[in-house]
Amino acid sequence: MIKFLDLEKVNNRYRKEIDERFKCILDKGWYLQGEENEKFSANFASYCGTKYCVGVANGLDALTLLIKAAGFGPGDEIIVPANTYIATILAVSANGCTPVLVEPDPDTLNIDVDKIEQKITSKTKAIMVVHLYGQAVQMQKVTQLAEKYNLKVFEDCAQAHGALYQSKRVGNLSDGGAFSFYPGKNLGCFGDGGAVTTNDKDLYEKIKALANYGSNVKYHNIYKGVNSRLDELQAAVVDVKLKHLDDDNNARRRISKFYRENITNDKIILPKVYSEDAHVWHIFAIRTENRDALQKYLADKGIQTLIHYPIPPHKQEAYSEWNNESYPISEKIHDTILSIPMSPVLTEDETDFVVKALNAF
Ligand SMILES: *Cc1c(COP(=O)(O)O)cnc(C)c1O
Repeated sequence: MIKFLDLEKVNNRYRKEIDERFKCILDKGWYLQGEENEKFSANFASYCGTKYCVGVANGLDALTLLIKAAGFGPGDEIIVPANTYIATILAVSANGCTPVLVEPDPDTLNIDVDKIEQKITSKTKAIMVVHLYGQAVQMQKVTQLAEKYNLKVFEDCAQAHGALYQSKRVGNLSDGGAFSFYPGKNLGCFGDGGAVTTNDKDLYEKIKALANYGSNVKYHNIYKGVNSRLDELQAAVVDVKLKHLDDDNNARRRISKFYRENITNDKIILPKVYSEDAHVWHIFAIRTENRDALQKYLADKGIQTLIHYPIPPHKQEAYSEWNNESYPISEKIHDTILSIPMSPVLTEDETDFVVKALNAF
């Protein structure tokens, strides 16, 4: 059986180091807003190349707080990709803003930067890009539009820790980046966790306060905040794993290259990359007209696959106001996409087996 992602194996590589950090935390007896969170935030900001980083409780909160701190609310429109995980869009809705969907580029599956401008109105306040499946969006056009129309730009980096665009890391390509440390992400903790990165001091201070009941100084509340913090145990886990993130991402790149060079079945469309360092392969998504048959065939051979994602956001019950709208490129992707095993601990025998199975389909 080849697992889609063997998390136990991924994390066991760092078990000794994590055990030691946990022991220190338990010995100290300090569980929130302490040294581990501070250390990790400083290390992650420096890794991403930003001035600031705030640890928060999860990726959805990171996205939501970023929009909230920028001051956007009811009546404001925020541009998002039509092809994304629902959390990106939920964060816009959670602030009372209106998400405006833009179709993906059929090659990279990221937001089609050439289709953004036609969706900009007098109410547009921001563009939220998503570095989907681990590939950095080609930001140049987005940045130009933001300057032309005086918009903020945010990044959903939940799938792309460490990906580069023109030598800069995601999370450092806009006004603010939102990260998730959900266990299965490229940088994952042992539960829920997240972070916001930014170079904007005001935004940083506001998010830090908002995530802590709207308070900078204990019992002094300047905003109507929430409780969204990265606890000390989770901060220690991601701090240990951060040191190995580049190695892990390079292992993913090697596997992706092997897949792309050796899967030769012409019924299968392989993912397109515009630059090797722009992609960290959170997900290796192939496309085929016979997706459901392929998934069943692989399952029969003991190869676990997943679908990211089966239902596009505009077809979700939660967004019934959009159910009659049509985003044909996004719909086509959702109908044909399949994620095959991808993780830094896959062995050569395993990837070889996956390739042979795919070629024989
Ligand atoms: C995982 C994910 C999120 C949400 O992160 P959580 O930590 O699960 O809240 C947001 N956006 C994208 C694109 C994701 O993949």
